[in-house]
Amino acid sequence: MSSARATRQREVIAQVIEQAEGPLGVPEIHGRARQILPRLGIATVYRTLKLLTEQRQIHAVAVDGESLYEKTGQGHHHHFSCERCSRVFTLHVCPVDLPGGTVFAGGFLVRSHEVTLYGLCPTCAPQA
Ligand SMILES: [Zn+2]
Ligand SMILES: [Zn+2]
Repeated sequence: MSSARATRQREVIAQVIEQAEGPLGVPEIHGRARQILPRLGIATVYRTLKLLTEQRQIHAVAVDGESLYEKTGQGHHHHFSCERCSRVFTLHVCPVDLPGGTVFAGGFLVRSHEVTLYGLCPTCAPQA
């Protein structure tokens, strides 16, 4: 494979993740990238995800037991999983009023938290 082609594949996969509404699973990344590069293989997707992860451009998050990939550097955020269409969205709101440094009874010092919200996305929610 030419290095120009490898660079193009890497750019397209990085762009798919960058522009997504939330973290994406491998099949979704593959599907979206193939709209731009129809001959892109799944092995290339896996190899590129590994490389982008090593370069810290993206990282894996676990949602519903599945590994999904999102860009790094988004700050504090949470994920919203749509129960109807199964898409996962990134929400830059925090539903938890729990300042870092909170100590629970017994001496449990809280440093961070993860929350996944479940419901219906704007496309799937009944229109008012
Ligand atoms: Zn939905
Ligand atoms: Zn939070």
